[in-house]
Amino acid sequence: MKIAFYTAKPYDRIWFEPMAEKYHMDILFLEAPCRPNTLDLASGCDAICVFINDQISSQMIDRLCDMKVKAILLRSAGFNHVDIEAARGKIHVLRVPSYSPEAVAEYATAMLLTVNRFTHRAYTRTRDFNMSINGLMGTDLHEKTAGIIGTGKIGQSMIRILKGFRMKVYAYDLYPDNSLDVEYVDLPELFKKSHVISLHCPLTKDTYHIIDKAAISNMQQGVYLINTSRGALIDTNALIDGLLEKKIAGVGLDVYEEESGVFYEDLSDKIIQDNTLARLMTFPNVLVTSHMGFFTSEAMQAIAIETMENALALEKGQKLVNEV
Ligand code: NAD
Repeated sequence: MKIAFYTAKPYDRIWFEPMAEKYHMDILFLEAPCRPNTLDLASGCDAICVFINDQISSQMIDRLCDMKVKAILLRSAGFNHVDIEAARGKIHVLRVPSYSPEAVAEYATAMLLTVNRFTHRAYTRTRDFNMSINGLMGTDLHEKTAGIIGTGKIGQSMIRILKGFRMKVYAYDLYPDNSLDVEYVDLPELFKKSHVISLHCPLTKDTYHIIDKAAISNMQQGVYLINTSRGALIDTNALIDGLLEKKIAGVGLDVYEEESGVFYEDLSDKIIQDNTLARLMTFPNVLVTSHMGFFTSEAMQAIAIETMENALALEKGQKLVNEV
């Protein structure tokens, strides 16, 4: 099977090259993102393999079908970047539903501890032998309240971690799992009660801007907000207002609603065109990272194996257990 692998980075090759050999797949690594003007690079391929910032529209799906491409292999659990309705019945969309939920939950915790205790600022200060701790006072997490939105695999891992800090944890999910040791509340109550809010639900029509101006106004003064899910769960302009009003004490964002074309790229010698992102970067209590919650060796290995398993199942005409 020949696979056009878009947005290939050096770290992708480390994990996928040996797997391609093991699974007898012919992978064409392409540095280009998957866009309408790069689709032709996949001509002669049976499948394309894409990452989260490769946006696949219905027009692109029709083009892929004309090119006899049979599948879109997602190197991710999330699938909001593909027009799934347009794909249905035309082309297979196969994802990696679970690779390492702990990788993302541990990362969300790292972001929380960073913005709460200012370790990002302490690091730069001490590198410069500025040993002053003025302005770096944090708060204890012990016995504070956390609100988890989305109690799937990552949310559950996050609940376990935060309980280790002896935090009181509330949760909200469209489909509550009553086997979990957590108290479900509705969203307004979660906003009202939580010192820390961490987002672990997918991006859907229902969750788009789930954190907006009204939600922020319901939150506690001095709330910490962590988003490792998808950028568009948060209305960034409302978030900036909440930071300016000092309603929000700290924010950790591993995702951003306009991250496509910016995240994963080295733009250090470019003029940044996104004023909202540039404004966000000016807050000392905001940590933005480049969608890397998943990025552990364990998760990368699992993604490579599961993607190859998806391709193999397709090649052998087996049941496609990871079809979206
Ligand atoms: P999951 O499918 O196991 O869990 C998602 C949960 O969200 C489910 O319990 C579901 O019922 C709930 N949900 C769905 N719609 C909801 C709504 N409207 N309101 C509240 N809850 C809702 O997914 P997961 O593996 O835990 O991943 C969660 C999200 O994390 C993914 O959708 C993805 O966007 C993100 N993610 C980010 C990274 C990263 O590197 N930062 C890596 C992997 C996943």
